[in-house]
Amino acid sequence: MVFTLPKLPYSYNALEPFIDAQTMELHYTKHHQAYITNLNLVVQKNPDLQNKSVESLLSNLSAILDDGVKTIVRNHGGGHANHTLFWMTMMQPSSMMIQVPVGKLATMIEKKYQSFDNMKDILSSKATAIFGSGWAWLCCDQQNQLEIIVTSNQDSPLIQGLQPLLGLDVWEHAYYLKYQNKRADYIAAWWNVVNWNYVADRYEMLFINKNGIDV
Ligand code: MN
Repeated sequence: MVFTLPKLPYSYNALEPFIDAQTMELHYTKHHQAYITNLNLVVQKNPDLQNKSVESLLSNLSAILDDGVKTIVRNHGGGHANHTLFWMTMMQPSSMMIQVPVGKLATMIEKKYQSFDNMKDILSSKATAIFGSGWAWLCCDQQNQLEIIVTSNQDSPLIQGLQPLLGLDVWEHAYYLKYQNKRADYIAAWWNVVNWNYVADRYEMLFINKNGIDV
């Protein structure tokens, strides 16, 4: 399998004014593409990595015995998986309606974090506090329980057995052109472009794939 850049579901300027078109274009065509290019190089040289999804590679990282190969898959496979989800979980902001979680996801957020706003505050604080480059995540575990975590560099939550539902990229390449050192402003703006229907559907799909355990 050769990994390719997934189609962006909107135009580069769709997330304006919260995320600018130039950042989107560079982030997608240069940064994400670089992760894919490097992942493909290591897969080509290692037949045991071939014909596997990037999610499968990351979920079974310990099966890769060569430390150098493992690090490349962790960094560049992680970069590919993380950004693929990142694009899908954003959408053109709508002035017609406020986007909020729906269905099982909404129920579980209230159960675990008391309110949607509180969950956003927790994730925002953790994202703001990341030292250096990384991601803040809303994930679910094997029992469908929600968890907010941060990871360094391009580490995927899949490495620790968690399914990512929504990830916030706080590498400087994600915001520096528009927000410079003001990471907190970027984080506050980013909530306006989260596609909660997509995130909620993803959570329900994971439920179904785990025997339909209900909330
Ligand atoms: Mn990025």
